[in-house]
Amino acid sequence: MIEKSQKLFEAACKVIPGGVNSPARAFRSVGGNPRFIQRAEGAWLYDEDGNRYLDLINSWGPMILGHAHPEIMGAAAAALQNSASFGAPTRLEVEMATAVCQAVPSIEKVRMVNSGTEATMSALRLARGYTGRDKVIKFEGCYHGHGDSFLIAAGSGLMTQGIPDSAGITKGTAQDTLTAPFNDFAAVQALVDANPGAIAAIILEPVVGNMGVVIPADGFLQKLRDLCTQQGILLIFDEVMTGFRLALGGAQELYGVQPDITTLGKIIGGGLPVGAYGGRAELMDYISPVGPIYQAGTLSGNPIAMSAGLAMMRLLNADPGMYARLESTTAYLQSEMQKLFAAKGEPVCINRVGSMITFFFQEGPISNFTDAKRSDTSRFGAFFRAMLERGVYLAPSQFEALFISNCIGSSEVDLILSAAKDSLDSL
Ligand code: PLP
Repeated sequence: MIEKSQKLFEAACKVIPGGVNSPARAFRSVGGNPRFIQRAEGAWLYDEDGNRYLDLINSWGPMILGHAHPEIMGAAAAALQNSASFGAPTRLEVEMATAVCQAVPSIEKVRMVNSGTEATMSALRLARGYTGRDKVIKFEGCYHGHGDSFLIAAGSGLMTQGIPDSAGITKGTAQDTLTAPFNDFAAVQALVDANPGAIAAIILEPVVGNMGVVIPADGFLQKLRDLCTQQGILLIFDEVMTGFRLALGGAQELYGVQPDITTLGKIIGGGLPVGAYGGRAELMDYISPVGPIYQAGTLSGNPIAMSAGLAMMRLLNADPGMYARLESTTAYLQSEMQKLFAAKGEPVCINRVGSMITFFFQEGPISNFTDAKRSDTSRFGAFFRAMLERGVYLAPSQFEALFISNCIGSSEVDLILSAAKDSLDSL
């Protein structure tokens, strides 16, 4: 029964564009209407009709320890007792900045903001202000939030809605954003050669989540690093998804390549609205009030978000084995799902890094946006609906990563596998 969700969706559509506050929540590409979630605990989501779903989205990444973790909830509740916001510095911000700098060695100073979008927009302004150059290179299918400069070939939500880029972006802005296929170093080199001294930054998701999971080819990140160093271009790793998800130090720790600027979000807020950008002290000191690059925020470093985020960081630091457990759970899920798809003769290519995984409904391999777009989205939609009926909540788009939480153990994986087997039988 999904009556209440249906009624809420009808009501929502009257007062909210498309009935959702972020397009990634819409079910347009998979069919049906979104479920309205009332609460969640551990690995499970509960909707307004009382149905429960095994959650493989985990708020698009932040809930790496599952939902409603008592220590994180307790920290946020305790902070709220002291008022919700001051607009003045707090001890919590110092602790948060220290925790981020300790976990991510390429970050010596960090500025907190309120979302991943704000983090990437601010990082780009910093790169432009620091280098005195205007242009940025991004990769087709990488999403860096909804800042104007990044809504060019921007993956997931846009791809699912069939919007190649967005209306409302000036030609001037679009002109300053150059795009290359992911994993194609020669294309990047060609753009740099064609725009001598004009490129401020190269920005990428070091492991892509936003066209579905796409893995950097051997040496790709290092080649970008070397090119940026040679050309005075700043390398920005957008680790909003991968930060504290693939390792405490993010994808840069996993692949051993350091960017100049890192953007973060999601996990570091423990589920509350947060973002951050950081890098070398000398670079970050270009930001106001010490430097000439303006960036500000009334609610930046909000005490409730900082408290929840700090509790999350404490828990992650206290359990160094967690990343290895996530890796083995997700690797097992991958291999068993691969067997199921093969047994059914369903051509599915599974890409995975750590606890980020995508089932692409096609043969593969998938190493860029063009490859990803070859997927059979209507087949994926049918699989999505069948899984939802059986109580497993996948991302409502072919071009998204699934995020496995620490609350998904072997019994939850067994539930996913049995739902997948039944779902495939029903297609
Ligand atoms: N960068 C990446 C890699 C993301 O995945 C996202 C959102 O999913 C963003 C930036 C934007 O973050 P937010 O939605 O918090 O604005």
